[in-house]
Amino acid sequence: MKVNYHTHSHYCDGKGELAEYVETAIAKGFTHLGFSGHAPVPFENTFAIKHEDYKAYCDEVRRLKEQYRDRIKIYLGLEIDYIPNILDDFGPLIAEGGLEYSIGSVHLVNRNGGSDLWFIDGSKQETYDEGLNNVFGGDICAGVKAFFNQTCRMIETQRPTIVGHFDKIVMHNKGRYFSPDDPWFHALAMETIDLIRQTGCICEINTRGLYKGRYNDFYPSSKLIKEMNEMDIPVVVSTDAHRPDDLDLFEGAYEYLAEIGYRNVVRELKVEN
Ligand SMILES: [Zn+2]
Ligand SMILES: [Zn+2]
Repeated sequence: MKVNYHTHSHYCDGKGELAEYVETAIAKGFTHLGFSGHAPVPFENTFAIKHEDYKAYCDEVRRLKEQYRDRIKIYLGLEIDYIPNILDDFGPLIAEGGLEYSIGSVHLVNRNGGSDLWFIDGSKQETYDEGLNNVFGGDICAGVKAFFNQTCRMIETQRPTIVGHFDKIVMHNKGRYFSPDDPWFHALAMETIDLIRQTGCICEINTRGLYKGRYNDFYPSSKLIKEMNEMDIPVVVSTDAHRPDDLDLFEGAYEYLAEIGYRNVVRELKVEN
């Protein structure tokens, strides 16, 4: 079974029509494909689905689901940002779109619920450094703690179907400010994993850093995946595709999971709707 539930498109910051992703997935032998465009956010930006396009996105996914139902199972979802005081209730978006699943992710970190945001993702290291300076006065421990706290509050209060790339804060660090092996960092990651265990969310293993050459490991890292296996956390492998050709860039994730004897690998997503 070949599956991917983390897929963007031209509706947000990806390239290509939804139908191109479906056709590519079928050609590559996929059985399940989930669309998870970046959810609309209440401020100006260049990465998310625009609120006025949200209905069209949902309608088109539903139309494709119907059209291709004998060839592939398609799911309607969103990757939703959790930002305290700014976007901290997934309910209205899920209801409005009639979503079948959500990926909860943190890309933008604020301090004490303030309006200044630290963008930890994207292609530019300078943006990361600037945000850290502007929002956290350059205090990396405070910034990383806020990132994990935000992730934990999201898991607790929103219970997304899938928790997205929960240690992505390492990406632009590039060994400069801290090591992911530092005890304080490891403790924050473990706290997050324990909360995932308690809530029963699925944790994604995201391969995008590897094939984009931005990071030398999965999100979360191989070391954390071993810890997750000890706690029997369900995981789903996703490529965070931004082009149709990204759909099957699994970067050895399944081989790694087999090698360490990972027990709880999810292929088919159970949805409520
Ligand atoms: Zn993301
Ligand atoms: Zn994504």
